[in-house]
Amino acid sequence: MNVSDSERVATQLAADGYEITRNEAAADVVLLNTCSVREKAEHKLFTRVGQVGKAAAMRGARKPLLGILGCVAQLEGETLFGKSPAIDFVIGTKAVGRVSKAIEQSFDGEKYYTDLENREESYVWSVAASQRHSPFVAFVPIIEGCNKFCTYCIVPFSRGRENSLPASEIVRHVWRLRREGIREVHLIGQNVNSYRPKTVAGLENYPGATAFSRLLRAVAATGIERIKFTTSFPRDFHPDIVEALDEHENLCNWVHLPVQSGSNRILKTMRRGHTIENYLERIDKIKASTRRIALTTDIIVGFPGETEADFQATLDLAEYCRFNSAYVFKYSPRPGTPAFALPDDVSAAEKTERFLRLDKLLRFHQQAVFRGYINRTVEVLAEKISEKHPDQISGHSTCQMVVNFAGASDLLGKIINVKIIESKANTLYGRIF
Ligand code: SAM
Ligand code: SF4
Repeated sequence: MNVSDSERVATQLAADGYEITRNEAAADVVLLNTCSVREKAEHKLFTRVGQVGKAAAMRGARKPLLGILGCVAQLEGETLFGKSPAIDFVIGTKAVGRVSKAIEQSFDGEKYYTDLENREESYVWSVAASQRHSPFVAFVPIIEGCNKFCTYCIVPFSRGRENSLPASEIVRHVWRLRREGIREVHLIGQNVNSYRPKTVAGLENYPGATAFSRLLRAVAATGIERIKFTTSFPRDFHPDIVEALDEHENLCNWVHLPVQSGSNRILKTMRRGHTIENYLERIDKIKASTRRIALTTDIIVGFPGETEADFQATLDLAEYCRFNSAYVFKYSPRPGTPAFALPDDVSAAEKTERFLRLDKLLRFHQQAVFRGYINRTVEVLAEKISEKHPDQISGHSTCQMVVNFAGASDLLGKIINVKIIESKANTLYGRIF
């Protein structure tokens, strides 16, 4: 979501006449887009702010104008100026359409410019081709914010309530991307399957049990080659999503379904809204698909009150689900969330120990899953030349696996059938079939 926000900010700035540079030393303005999901991400901000000032001083140059965007900006607002005098302006998560104004005001000498206000009605969600993170893959936001208030999570506070974008606009957006030569779109949102637009305009001809599965069918009908979506919220994961994937080849065979814990007791304190039993029902439905759907997840270890037995339940879950990959996080207390009031009683050493134990088990199963791809042919979007091996192309399969294969730059942007011959820690290797 942050990458997508940055792409839109760059698009708006370029339209307003600014030149975008990735060379910090050449920049008159530096924008830092921030994340506050864990404390570590927040700390990074102050390290980067310090680096920007120091680098300018070392060059004997004036410090560039420094603007802070994103979740930390939204949550901390003006208090950021007190934390670092190098910061010139602060732009909240919904004010990203007005960065040009912040730059102008700051250049005109206005100090401590802060905009934490709402998104403008006319906000443009599309991105100019020149500002996309990839020439072949595009993000399409379908829902912003979050209403779930999981007790550990800061997102509902930093990104506000859920707001679903009109289906007709989303479908038009995908049509446009297809015409521009984009091969793969990612429908994105904190919880895409909680998609609830104000009207069904644009979905009339597409059946489905939920607005999200209807939207999937509507986007599939555009004929764009690959459609991925992330993140799915387990409680709202209707079986009809799997039906839609079974019906449409261009809906990719990958589901990211964050479970967070294998213990019902912990899930209840996290206020996730699902139990392990209903999570596993969804997993079974996904695994029963006519397609081989890759599964990925997020897990938090060391949530307040997590006992060894609770943690063991998480290990058991990982054993059952056989995830293609999983992001494991150590619980990080976030001020302002309900869980912040609970004693953070799993010691740092214990969190690390559980993190490593879980990571080892996940990797063990992941390797078995990866080996299962050997001798199979997967469709890979050739996205870039491999950084480590310039004679190889790197891309993603429809199931979101990273696949490398021998090839040259004339293949970039094409979808290639690759037969897998080897698997390593995080990558599959193959040859053109
Ligand atoms: N909306 C998605 C969902 O509910 O599955 C996840 C979005 S959240 C920004 C990404 C991940 O960060 C979560 O799935 C969770 O595992 C992790 N996370 C969120 N708050 C955390 C915290 N306080 N400590 C550690 N990990 C956290
Ligand atoms: Fe955070 Fe829960 Fe919302 Fe995901 S669903 S963004 S974890 S509050």
